[in-house]
Amino acid sequence: MARDAVLQVAGLQTHFFTFGGTRVVRAVDGVDFTLREGETLGLVGESGSGKTTTCLSIVGLLPRAARIVGGAVVFEGEDLTRKSQRELRRIRGRRIAVILQDPMASLNPLFTIFRQVAEPAFFHQRLRGRSLRERVQSLLRAVRIPSPEWRMREYPHQMSGGMRQRIVGAIALAGGPRLVIADEPTTNLDVTIQAQYLDLLKDIQRDTGVALIFVTHNLGIVAKMCDRVAVMYAGKIVEQAAVRELFDAPKHPYTRALLGSMPKLGSKEPLYSIRGQPPNLANLPPGCSFHPRCPDVMPRCMTEEPRDFRPGDGSVARCWLLGDVLARP
Ligand code: SF4
Repeated sequence: MARDAVLQVAGLQTHFFTFGGTRVVRAVDGVDFTLREGETLGLVGESGSGKTTTCLSIVGLLPRAARIVGGAVVFEGEDLTRKSQRELRRIRGRRIAVILQDPMASLNPLFTIFRQVAEPAFFHQRLRGRSLRERVQSLLRAVRIPSPEWRMREYPHQMSGGMRQRIVGAIALAGGPRLVIADEPTTNLDVTIQAQYLDLLKDIQRDTGVALIFVTHNLGIVAKMCDRVAVMYAGKIVEQAAVRELFDAPKHPYTRALLGSMPKLGSKEPLYSIRGQPPNLANLPPGCSFHPRCPDVMPRCMTEEPRDFRPGDGSVARCWLLGDVLARP
């Protein structure tokens, strides 16, 4: 049975206006995806490809210079691009939670763990007194903090990096969200702690049915965590597919290049690196934005922007090569 769509992002365009609005940076330029209950979507791509701006657009946390100029973000039937900041604040922390890369940026060093985990439960679920204390302890237990009745009296600096990230997870869950956006949440953790944290997120997802957007540049994490993957390049999704499909039969040359640059256990082959640099988003090359770096570039790619092609296996790729393959009799 098809699960309900929690989030539908359609034609999302977010631009930055700098130098008094004279310079326009198309950070997100026509992004489409759907996320269902209990599903995990990986957003991958190099730095500056638009992953984080896509997420900030969804939750209305864009910096002052950025504006959504087109498209819709429909969360549980409501278009968030039409909400006021006040309405968005109510949705964030309760129905949508965000986990950032640096836990210290999300935790207040002056407040106890209890106060920080209790706040969303106090405001959004109106819990008080003993019920609030029990809720905080159960959230800390859910993220595997040992002796929560003691640890909740401590401050962030008394915890290890892994524990702090788990506390951020507990705060994210405190409002009972339907969608969690995790932006590179394991970057600052060492490998063993990282693996434990990813297992924890998966367990929580299984128990709560929460939908998850996982932003990362680590394809190993994508393989472990995600059901679907959207590969971003220069503000667009250039390929989107089920995780197995993407790893087994990548369709876009950029996806192939990303997979080729992944280290392989025991391989003596030198690592492949993608030639050139990502483009300047304020001055994109004509045609396909990837054409200056693409090993398969054709004359058409330099003048005509490719559209989305759907080969029929549920994947979508934005590349003329695929168009040519599909056009063959
Ligand atoms: Fe490469 Fe052309 Fe495909 Fe762009 S459209 S990825 S340049 S083959």
